[in-house]
Amino acid sequence: MTPVIALVGRPNVGKSTLFNQMTRSRDALVADFPGLTRDRKYGDGNYEGRRFIVIDTGGLTGDEAGLDAEMARQSMQAVEEADIVLFLVDGRAGLTAGDEMIADHLRRTGKKAHLVVNKTDGQDPDVAAADFYALGFESVYQIAAAHNRGIRSMLELLLGEL
Ligand code: GDP
Ligand code: MG
Repeated sequence: MTPVIALVGRPNVGKSTLFNQMTRSRDALVADFPGLTRDRKYGDGNYEGRRFIVIDTGGLTGDEAGLDAEMARQSMQAVEEADIVLFLVDGRAGLTAGDEMIADHLRRTGKKAHLVVNKTDGQDPDVAAADFYALGFESVYQIAAAHNRGIRSMLELLLGEL
């Protein structure tokens, strides 16, 4: 089975940027996977001959009511479909209340998620990530999606774990 990787996190943390870096063909839609619906964005990735599917989502704000309800539903659907859940946060913005709510939400799904600190460019990645250890994830990656930094080594470890 081709592993499925879901990207979740607040809007603007860099999920779509990471999606584009992880997929060979930009915005490639994957139609031949039963059980996957099309209302989230699916892409086809390949890391050293290992194929994977990546799901981009609109984002979670932590406010699961009101206007964000549909976006939240999509994100949680992606989490359910995924073998690997990547929870992206913004290393420039630092830890926000929204991140904490999403972390709680993910914890309640019972599915293991990996914390990915993005936008670590232009600063010490360890300093950028320090804030986020409070969220209690055992697996933390530091990347700069816009600069294609940290993504390959992250995939190596994630796919190696399966
Ligand atoms: P999404 O809403 O989570 O999908 O976030 P986007 O991928 O649309 O990115 C939001 C903004 O963050 C855009 O302006 C990106 O160019 C910027 N961005 C994404 N990744 C990085 C990064 O690694 N470093 C920096 N400095 N900016 C980034
Ligand atoms: Mg996006």
